[in-house]
Amino acid sequence: MSLIVQKFGGSSVANAEKLRNVAGIITDTYKAGNDVVVVVSAQGDTTDELIEKAKEVNPSPSKREMDVLLSVGEQISISLLAMTIENMGFPVISLTGWQVGLKTDSNYGNARISKFTNDRLRNEILKKNIVIVAGFQGINKYDDITTLGRGGSDTSAVALATALKADLCQIYTDVDGVYTSDPRKIPTAKKLDEITFDEMLELASLGAQVLHNRSVEMAKKHNIELEVLSSLERKPGTKVKEVVKMEKMLVRGVAVDKDIAKVAVIGLPDKPGIAFKMFSLLAQKKVNVDVILQSVGRENTKDISFTVNKDNLDLAVSVINDNLDVFGATKVVTKDKISKVSLVGAGMQSNPGIAAKMFEALADANINISMITTSEIKVSVIIDEAESDKAARVIHDAFFNI
Ligand code: ADP
Ligand code: ASP
Ligand code: MG
Repeated sequence: MSLIVQKFGGSSVANAEKLRNVAGIITDTYKAGNDVVVVVSAQGDTTDELIEKAKEVNPSPSKREMDVLLSVGEQISISLLAMTIENMGFPVISLTGWQVGLKTDSNYGNARISKFTNDRLRNEILKKNIVIVAGFQGINKYDDITTLGRGGSDTSAVALATALKADLCQIYTDVDGVYTSDPRKIPTAKKLDEITFDEMLELASLGAQVLHNRSVEMAKKHNIELEVLSSLERKPGTKVKEVVKMEKMLVRGVAVDKDIAKVAVIGLPDKPGIAFKMFSLLAQKKVNVDVILQSVGRENTKDISFTVNKDNLDLAVSVINDNLDVFGATKVVTKDKISKVSLVGAGMQSNPGIAAKMFEALADANINISMITTSEIKVSVIIDEAESDKAARVIHDAFFNI
């Protein structure tokens, strides 16, 4: 007998028919003699719809109140799924994030799980109940509801799997596994049987929404084997784990992140300490900076450009504008119609020429690169947003459709 954590995403529980389908997977797992803990997301587009409702009454609501609102979506799903399973004659109970004691920090809207007090959950499992837990939500030290960031139910599932020392954590979604790129945008993308935690973490952090990046980070830390699989077809998915059979594949996937913006600070004095001053101020204000590029300007000046998440753009610009004199800069220029396209693969560290081949594919397609960044297992380029899907396609073709 095993303890299995199963997570179902929003599209997998979108309506009554989908709920019955998911209930079938869960009860089959239970009938096979396993303990089953289930994590669910809000139905369909519920979270987006709730965000729209908030905007109707307040263009910039407090993050605390947003979390009270957004957590509702998952509470609808857990109750409906529990009722569906109840109707099939199985013992079942639904629990919210706070009922299972999922504690987080107080970073409303993007909270991190800090600890987990799981007596209630354990007791329900001991009673042989199928336990349905609301994903995406937790509670902080003030007893306020928090949410874990968009896509965060994956992380709730891995957190429960870790705390319960589950034998398996299955992430059921609307595609049948992790592909070499988003299969909805690149029809020639290939399904991967296996991928390493490190590669999956890069892909998830660089825009492949199939898994929440923190879920992969946590699974790697606690060595929880994840499986990404379809809720609609019963067949094996993709295993995410520490070591995979290294086939000849040097690269594992292409990801696109359209959620970024560029800030260029123009006319900075060309002397030591300027970058330090600027980026420490941004860090103090909790602005996460990604790609940084410094270029030579005119008459002993330099320009520094960097990218941030779109949500952080206004804050970054106001921090810089408020301190233009301190830095000695002339002005700030921004651009938000940009994207980051990345190629990921553990095999690239020992194989020169991967970046060159990627740039060749972009050059042949006449796509201009504005910034480049690399690590041992990825190469990313910043380009115009309008060209990002095409860029992903040509890079994908160059590496995977030989
Ligand atoms: P869920 O609601 O189940 O959490 P998501 O929408 O968050 O589902 O994630 C699944 C989606 O991720 C897929 O529908 C697919 O379009 C997208 N996706 C992006 N990159 C990839 C990839 N490399 N492999 C598989 N799916 C991907
Ligand atoms: N419902 C939340 C969202 O849409 C969490 C999730 O789906 O994982 O982001
Ligand atoms: Mg998701």
